[in-house]
Amino acid sequence: MNKLLLVFAFCLPLRHLALTSGYGYRMHPLTGQYRFHAGIDLRANQDTVFAVLPGHITFAGYDAVTGAHIRLSSGDFSFLYGHLSQVFVLAGDSVPACRPLGITGSSGRVSGEHLHFSVSYQQKPVNPLAFLRDLTR
Ligand SMILES: [Zn+2]
Repeated sequence: MNKLLLVFAFCLPLRHLALTSGYGYRMHPLTGQYRFHAGIDLRANQDTVFAVLPGHITFAGYDAVTGAHIRLSSGDFSFLYGHLSQVFVLAGDSVPACRPLGITGSSGRVSGEHLHFSVSYQQKPVNPLAFLRDLTR
């Protein structure tokens, strides 16, 4: 039995990844301010979002900026899924990799529907594209 197959069970956050705004400093599309974008924006249209790694839900709720969103913690990593229209999980839930967590939407401060997805390692933001590339290599 190959243990690595179990250890490295993972899913992409969406079935299809199409980047609309990258990680790093940018002019904010709504406010016009030059600010750090701590995640990536992915094209979405009422798409299911998936748990990237197994872990537990540390937040499932709403705020005015990120809209309906979910935080998933997995060891030293944590993942944020923002601007959702539906949330299927509750804070405290344990989830396996690939569990559907919710549906994309345009809640919060957005100019149109997309998934805001961010990855942190030991509380510090990392480039989600680099993280996903390493995961899938
Ligand atoms: Zn974003």
